[in-house]
Amino acid sequence: MYGTGLWRGLRVTLKHFIDTYIEDIRYGFRRHVPVEAFPERQGLEARGTFTVQYPEEKLATPERFRFIPFLVVENYDHPERPGHDWCTSCGICAKVCPPQCIWIVRSDDPETGRPIPEPAEFYIDIDICMNCGFCAEFCPFDAIKMDHDYELASYDRTTAHIFDKQRLSKEFRYWQSIAPTRAAEEAAARGGWEHKDVLKQKQREAKDKGAAAE
Ligand code: SF4
Ligand code: SF4
Repeated sequence: MYGTGLWRGLRVTLKHFIDTYIEDIRYGFRRHVPVEAFPERQGLEARGTFTVQYPEEKLATPERFRFIPFLVVENYDHPERPGHDWCTSCGICAKVCPPQCIWIVRSDDPETGRPIPEPAEFYIDIDICMNCGFCAEFCPFDAIKMDHDYELASYDRTTAHIFDKQRLSKEFRYWQSIAPTRAAEEAAARGGWEHKDVLKQKQREAKDKGAAAE
């Protein structure tokens, strides 16, 4: 019959409208629901329609969510290399970055003047970064990762959005906390939780010990 679809649509709208109030009664008409209730109210099974009261309420970010990259450094309580850069300043991320918003200055050995595999400086212009994730995909040392922190607005339009090495660096345990599955997959591929070079060094030492014992 002509117009049935229209009525069916209105019935769905009315159901959501009523469900919204039923759900509100469940939570005592509070403006902000408890954090535990948030996934349910914003999930696929949610009844009614709700506005996210940002910034008091925030949608959970999925593990693969990606925003501005950050640099992985050793945990600050690491016994041998606290805060040590995972980045070897190979420059691959800067090469593959489509809008060319990464600048790296390699460190030099103060005695010999020869380059050493550590970045002296590392900058990303976050106003130019398009969050593509190429840098993280191509880094052979798992040293640059896409962050979940999207609250980066500021009133300064000049230099505040050029993030330096200090601003970009975050502990390895932070990466484990925001992306536990991926961190575990990468560790399995590397052969351990440590940096690739550390694992290689340990393997070499174990081999040398084995050879000496023979
Ligand atoms: S690709 Fe990785 S290791 Fe190489 S410069 Fe970029 S962050 Fe550093
Ligand atoms: S996410 Fe993309 S645009 Fe941003 S720094 Fe990495 S490669 Fe460049």
